[in-house]
Amino acid sequence: MSFFRSLFGKEAVRTRFAPSPTGLFHIGNVRTALFNFLFSKKNGGKFILRVEDTDTDRYKPEYENDIIETLKWLGLQWDEGPFKQSERIALYARYLKELLKNGDAFYCFHSKEFLEREHEKQIQDKEIPAHNCEFKKVPLKDSEKRLLKENAIVRFRMPIDLEISFTDLIRGKINFNSGALEGDFSLAKAEGPDKFLPLYNFAVVIDDFEMKISHVIRGEDHISNTPKQILIGQALGLPTPKFAHLPLILGSDKAKLSKREASVSVNEYREAGYLPEALLNFIALLGWNPGTDEEILSLKELIEKFNLNKVQKSGAVFNTEKLDWFNGCYLRKLSIDELAKRAIPFLEKNNLIESNNYDWKYIKKVLALEQPRLKKLGGIGERVGFFFKPPKYEPELLIWRDMLFKDITVSLKVTQGALNQLNESKFTRGNLEKILLKEAERAKNKDKGRLLWPLRVALTGLEASPGPFEVLDVLGKKESLARIETAIKKLA
Ligand code: GLU
Repeated sequence: MSFFRSLFGKEAVRTRFAPSPTGLFHIGNVRTALFNFLFSKKNGGKFILRVEDTDTDRYKPEYENDIIETLKWLGLQWDEGPFKQSERIALYARYLKELLKNGDAFYCFHSKEFLEREHEKQIQDKEIPAHNCEFKKVPLKDSEKRLLKENAIVRFRMPIDLEISFTDLIRGKINFNSGALEGDFSLAKAEGPDKFLPLYNFAVVIDDFEMKISHVIRGEDHISNTPKQILIGQALGLPTPKFAHLPLILGSDKAKLSKREASVSVNEYREAGYLPEALLNFIALLGWNPGTDEEILSLKELIEKFNLNKVQKSGAVFNTEKLDWFNGCYLRKLSIDELAKRAIPFLEKNNLIESNNYDWKYIKKVLALEQPRLKKLGGIGERVGFFFKPPKYEPELLIWRDMLFKDITVSLKVTQGALNQLNESKFTRGNLEKILLKEAERAKNKDKGRLLWPLRVALTGLEASPGPFEVLDVLGKKESLARIETAIKKLA
């Protein structure tokens, strides 16, 4: 192996995304997954998915499902996995036994109550909380006997006053002293001889080795776990992977992303009508930049340009307005066919169309009109609902300035007359504009609003909407005239 490594001067890049299915997939997860994905793809490596499901109390199958579905939706395809830690228990047991045999780990029989009391006292006495366990002095044989009757915790024997350091690829050298690392930390629960339930820090080390992970890229909140993981690896004689800890994601007030913001599920973004490519582009720039001020970057371009050297150390600000801007850009880049494909589920959800029973051409016309203004597909119902259902509104909305109901009725009748001059095939935006503007010029004080406002409201039922000519063009002659007729009846 080292021969090949020196021969080619380069070790295969293998990264992993290792979420715990104890909550819904959130923005922080996307960032970790994306950076691991980009780094492995940039270096011709592999991206591995590992589900860290050792916390059985907080595990839920729907969270596991959510991981898979969200990664698929984002298009972050993994090369190997998903591996599940719960299916690898026998593997961990082998390594645990080795640690126990060599004296690097031992069984602790302290009760939960004892440990809690000890912790509280240390906090009161302003000491660094740490459990330096007396059980490490007990011979393994004796502990194994006791284990037949009692459960235990397998703990790592923390070396005294040892300097542990590693070079983080983003932050540079980081040093720890073993004295500041909470003492003999836990590796696994033991519920009898050979019945182990591994815990996070231990299972990670074994998996990273077994999966040949070359680079561990994860959130800054894991920095304090790294020295523990290095110690476990060293005790087992395993190579230490390279580490890169990503900066925190901050809210727009520059404070740590609040519980609420941080835990917003990606599904909520999906349902609000954000496009996965916009979300990925936005998140790629949370803590990283390509070294230029380019902002709109496809996944392919992100892979080409990605480099851990350009990841910043300081927190990255999450700005929803910026995300909306990205989403708008991506929506405008879509072809009308593609936009329609993506919008249809939202139109269905808003009960504006029935599934498998809609007019594809009509939908495309509506969307072409809305595309320049769209920010999120979730809001599409409010914006285009009137194209699919007759609008509901109070007759007062038809009033322009000082017009009376009877004036409006006259105005709408004039419009009807003008529209009737055009047959279906001539009912186009250009013709409509010509003929209606000519009528509008003839209104009192040349005030075009006297003709165009009531018309637009009759068609849309909205205070703000696209202009009347575009709307007439999309709705067509028959439907437009029917809506004007309804408005006249409302006024009567
Ligand atoms: N399962 C851990 C988490 O979800 C990640 C572990 C790691 O990346 O080392 O936070």
